[in-house]
Amino acid sequence: MADNLKIYNTLSGNKEPLKPLVEGRIGMYVCGPTVYSDVHLGNCRTFVSFDIIYRYLLYKGYKIRYVRNITDVGHLEGDTDIGAEDKISKKARLEQLEPMEIAQKYTLGFHRMMDIFNTLSPSIEPRATGHIIEQIEMVKAILDNGYGYEVDGSVYFDTIKFARDKKVYGQLSGRKLEDLLSETRELKKQDEKKHPSDFAIWIKADPSHLMRWSSPWSVGFPGWHLECSAMSTRYLGKHFDIHGGGGDLKFPHHENEVAQNYGACNCAPANYWMHGNMLLMNGKKMSKSDGNSLTPEQLFTGNSPHLSKGYSPMSIRFFMLQSHYRSTLDLTDEALQAAEKGFQRLMEGYRNLLSLKPDEKQVDRDLNSKLESLMHQVFDNLDDDFNTPKALANLFEMVSVINSIKNHQIDSDKLRSDTLQKLQKVFKEVVFDVFGLKEEELSSGEDEVTEKLMDLILQLRQQARTEKNWGMADTIRDALQEAGIVVKDGKEGTAWSVKH
Ligand SMILES: [Zn+2]
Repeated sequence: MADNLKIYNTLSGNKEPLKPLVEGRIGMYVCGPTVYSDVHLGNCRTFVSFDIIYRYLLYKGYKIRYVRNITDVGHLEGDTDIGAEDKISKKARLEQLEPMEIAQKYTLGFHRMMDIFNTLSPSIEPRATGHIIEQIEMVKAILDNGYGYEVDGSVYFDTIKFARDKKVYGQLSGRKLEDLLSETRELKKQDEKKHPSDFAIWIKADPSHLMRWSSPWSVGFPGWHLECSAMSTRYLGKHFDIHGGGGDLKFPHHENEVAQNYGACNCAPANYWMHGNMLLMNGKKMSKSDGNSLTPEQLFTGNSPHLSKGYSPMSIRFFMLQSHYRSTLDLTDEALQAAEKGFQRLMEGYRNLLSLKPDEKQVDRDLNSKLESLMHQVFDNLDDDFNTPKALANLFEMVSVINSIKNHQIDSDKLRSDTLQKLQKVFKEVVFDVFGLKEEELSSGEDEVTEKLMDLILQLRQQARTEKNWGMADTIRDALQEAGIVVKDGKEGTAWSVKH
C-alpha cells in the first residue's frame, strides 16, 4: 500500500513515514480513562483527537486493531506509591458502593459522552481488573530478568539498573540516567524504594483496601503503569505500531510503560508514540479549584458564568478540529461562537454542493483545476501528521467556490460533471467519515404533538429547577438524553434537538 502519511513520533521528535509492521495492518493502543469520576473536557479532546486519527487510518484502508483501556484499578491519588489510596477504591468508600459500581457508573457515562461526540468505539476496550493474571505474569518476568525487587510484599521497578543497562530510558520524556541519579528528593522513612524514581508494579494492600488479589508476593493490586504494558502486549503483541495518549502521560506513565515492556520482554512496545496536547480555558490551564473549568454538560447547556449560551456537540467537535492535535487549544466563549458559525457554514456548503447541477457547455479549466488542487491539498494536509486545521481551511476554500456557483456569481455550466461528482464524494467523506461531524437538527421540526409534549416536559423541568428540586431536574434531563434528545439552556430559553 503506497502511503504518504507522516506521523510525528515523540520517540524521535520527528515526523516519520508510517511503516506498519505488517503491510496494510495497524495495531494502535491509546490510554483510556480512569473511571472514578465524570470524564473531563481535556480527556474528551484527547479521545476525539485519536478518533480522527483512527478514522483517517480506516479511511485509508488499513485494517486496524484499536485498543483503548478502561483503568478501574491501580491509579493512585498523588504520586506516592505506598500509603496512597486507589482512586476507585476511595470513591467507593466515600459513596459506600462496590468499586465495580463506581467503575460501571463512570464507564457508562464515558461511553455516553464518546457517543455524543460521535467517536467510534475501539476494537477492544479491556479493563485492568479483567487482566490481573497478565499483570502478575509481567511482574514475574520483570523480576526474573532482574529489573524488579520485592520489599515486604510490594514489588518495585529498578529504574537505575534499567537505565544503566538499556539506553532507552528517558526517550519519551528526555530524562537521563544522570537526572535520575541526581534526584535530590529524599526518600521518606516509610518509603521502601531504593531510589525515588523507582515505581511500584505490585502493591501490597492493607486489609481495609477494597480491591485486592492474591499474588506470589502479597494480597494486593497492580501498579497503574503496569496495566497498559500487560494489555497492549496481550492484544497487540510485544511489539506493535502506534501507542497514543494525552501529553500529560509522557512521564511517568509512558516512560514507565516502555521500561516495563523492556524489563519483561526485552523489546520496545511501540514504533510510534503519539501525544495529544492540552485543552486550555481562557488562556489558562483548566482547574476546578480556580473555577477555571467546565464540564461537557455545562458546555452543552451553557450553564456556566464562562459561557453566553450552550453549544452543540458537533460545534464543539468542529472547534477541536480547528486546531492541530499537537497544539494547545484555548477554549473561550468567542472561539466557540465562531466554531458554531463555522460548523453551520460547512454544513450549508455541503447542502449547496449537493444541489449543484453541472452543465458542461462552457467548462472553465481554471475553476475545475482549482477544485482538483484543493481536493489534493486536503489529503496532503491530513497526510502531514493529521493536520485538520489546514484541511478544514481547504474545505472552506471549496465552500467559497460552491457558494459562488450556487449564488450565480460563477456559472454552474463552467463546472465539469466529473469534477462535481468527485468534489461531492471527497467533501462528504472528509467531513463525515474522517472528521466525524454529522448534521444536527438545530430546530426540531418534529410534529406538533412532540412539540407540545416537549414544551410540557421542559416546563416541568423548569419548575423543578425553580423549586431547587435538582434531583427531579437531573432525572428529566437524563431521561431525555437517554431518548436521544439534547436539551440546551440558553439566554433566550431552553432549546431541544434530536440527536441523530
Ligand atoms: Zn496507559
